[in-house]
Amino acid sequence: SAARVVVIGGGFGGASCARALRRIDPKLQITLIEPNRTFTACPFSNEVIAGLRELDAQQFTYDRIAAEGVAVMAQAATKIDPHTHTVGLADGTSLAYDRLVLSPGIDLRFDALPGYDETAAAKMPHAWKAGEQTALLRRQLEAMEDGGLVVLAVPASPSRCPPAPYERASLMAHYLKTRKPRSKVMLLDAKDVFPQQRLFENAWKELYPGMIERISLSQGGRVVSVDPSTNTVVTDFGNYTADVANVIPPQKAGHIAEIAGAVDNTGWCPIDPVTFASKLVPDIHVIGDACIAGSIPKSASAANAEAKACAAAIVNLMSGKSPEIPRLNGACYNTVAPGYAFSLSGVYQPKDGQFAELEGNITSPIDAPREVRQHEATIAEAWFKTITVDTFG
Ligand code: FAD
Repeated sequence: SAARVVVIGGGFGGASCARALRRIDPKLQITLIEPNRTFTACPFSNEVIAGLRELDAQQFTYDRIAAEGVAVMAQAATKIDPHTHTVGLADGTSLAYDRLVLSPGIDLRFDALPGYDETAAAKMPHAWKAGEQTALLRRQLEAMEDGGLVVLAVPASPSRCPPAPYERASLMAHYLKTRKPRSKVMLLDAKDVFPQQRLFENAWKELYPGMIERISLSQGGRVVSVDPSTNTVVTDFGNYTADVANVIPPQKAGHIAEIAGAVDNTGWCPIDPVTFASKLVPDIHVIGDACIAGSIPKSASAANAEAKACAAAIVNLMSGKSPEIPRLNGACYNTVAPGYAFSLSGVYQPKDGQFAELEGNITSPIDAPREVRQHEATIAEAWFKTITVDTFG
């Protein structure tokens, strides 16, 4: 009978992997397990928060993937037994696999920041998974009075999409500048440096003078607790009472990876970078945000590239061929205002058991005329179109 590959998680990694497997070997029996019938994408969700885009522009179904011959099951995976090679689903049924791919994305660590649990997230949204949280943060911004304080708490690395908090601060400032110009955005940051920092900081000076203040780790910016009853965000040096508190807590691999036994004491999944095979559990591969991928930042671009490389490796492994060394491209666009974006791109390959950057990344020039930024904003929108068509059909 046909070899069975089960993919858990229908996001940028999992959906791309299911499609790539189908393309490479039509004889495979492929199942994609994802509880949501509609996926809501994080890239460009900062535009939704800033009122520049509607949430439905972020949403995709699995209809095309199903039409291509992938069995799509609208269920959550709840159990994994690596010995019997079975996955248990929320409805009590189970299914067998020869190889299993995990792409569950992240879970928020509701135990890591005192005061910040799931109930607190309904008052102080993270909006680090797109959907209801994105809409909630947008409504809070819309409801805020002019002169209000928005506090954005940024966690230490590693986390999903390292530049996205700064993109969010920028687009929030854009919204406030046009609607509530006496308001401020304060970034309380558990990091000292961040990607494309000079480009962001120059843009803030140029576009939003005096509107965005950032307190870095060494200036005491690390958030140590929160109090949702008063909307207070606490650092070792001060308390900030926010009108809108966007608290992005520390993260870990999606819980199902822990259930599979694929997570180490970092909270993430160690893998062999050539095949994405788990270092801890046989016949399980981990891609996307959940895996430890060396110097590759956790992004939709990376998840999509990893998915294709993983699919190729699985097909080779199952037919007894040795896998090829993957070479992955990642690109990341940051939009700071409508028509103003810059980017970072890199090429990654396995080196000494981990992904390393091949040539040093390419970043947009620090000094550039506005047309260059305008052009990159156009490319960013084209990137979103391309990656979502590539992932969901
Ligand atoms: P996801 O895309 O999150 O998919 C995981 C899926 O697994 C989900 O659909 C979930 O429902 C499912 N799942 C979880 N557990 C189970 C289970 N037990 N059973 C079945 N299914 C399960 N990246 C970029 O490249 N460019 C950007 O501009 C960009 N902007 C971003 C902006 C923001 C604000 C944020 C938060 C992120 C951004 N990202 C961006 C990062 C990008 O969204 C993630 O890196 C990407 O989604 C990771 O893909 P993934 O497959 O690992 O996880």
